[in-house]
Amino acid sequence: MFGFLKKVADYTRDAVDAANYLGQGLSVTFDHLRRRPITVQYPYEKLIPSERYRGRIHYEFDKCIACEVCVRVCPINLPVVDWVMNKETKKKELRNYSIDFGVCIFCGNCVEYCPTNCLSMTEEYELAAFDRHSLNYDNVALGRLPTSVTTDPSVQPLRELAYLPAGVMDPHGVPADQPRAGQLPAQVLEQLQANAAAGDEGESIENAPVGDKANG
Ligand code: SF4
Ligand code: SF4
Repeated sequence: MFGFLKKVADYTRDAVDAANYLGQGLSVTFDHLRRRPITVQYPYEKLIPSERYRGRIHYEFDKCIACEVCVRVCPINLPVVDWVMNKETKKKELRNYSIDFGVCIFCGNCVEYCPTNCLSMTEEYELAAFDRHSLNYDNVALGRLPTSVTTDPSVQPLRELAYLPAGVMDPHGVPADQPRAGQLPAQVLEQLQANAAAGDEGESIENAPVGDKANG
C-alpha cells in the first residue's frame, strides 16, 4: 500500500514539474510575440558584443614561455608552438606561434590555462576571408590589437537585447548612459561573493574566488 502511494506521489510531482517547465517555455514564446523585428544596418551599425564574448584570440609573443600547455588543453591540439632548444643556455627559444581560426572552436581553454596570460579572447568577430588558409594566424597577426565596435568612429554601436534597459526592445536611440536590465558580470560576482561570505551553500561555493576557498 505504501509503495503504491509513493508511486502516485512521484507521478504527481513529475506531472507538476512537467507542467511547470512547459509553462516556462511558453512564457518565453509569448514574451517574443510582443516584440517587433529590429533591423541592424550592418556594417554601418553593429551590435556591441557581450562582456564575455569569445572572439579572435590575442597573443603576446614576449610573454610566451613555449610551455605548450595551450596545445595540451585544446580539444583539437590546435595551437602550433614553434620552438628550438638552445643548447648553450639550455632554454627553449620561441620561433613562431600560430592558431588556425578556420578550425578553432573558440572554446577558450587555451586562454584559461595559459600560465603567463599571454592569450586573451577579444571581441573581434569579423574573420571572413576568401581563402581559408588566410585564417591561419601567425604570431604577428595574433598580436594585432582587436577592433572595437564602440571605438570605431565609422560605426554606430547598438546594444544587444540583453543589454537594453528594462522594457526597451529597440536599441536605436537608447542613450548610452541608460542602465541595462539585469546585472553586470562584476555585480553578479559581487553577489556570489557576498552569498559565499554569508555561508550560503550551493553554487556560490563553486564560484567563490580561489583565495576564499583556500581561506575557508
Ligand atoms: S600556454 Fe601560453 S605560455 Fe604556454 S605555449 Fe601556450 S601561449 Fe605560450
Ligand atoms: S579556443 Fe579552444 S579550439 Fe581554439 S585554440 Fe584555444 S583551446 Fe583550441
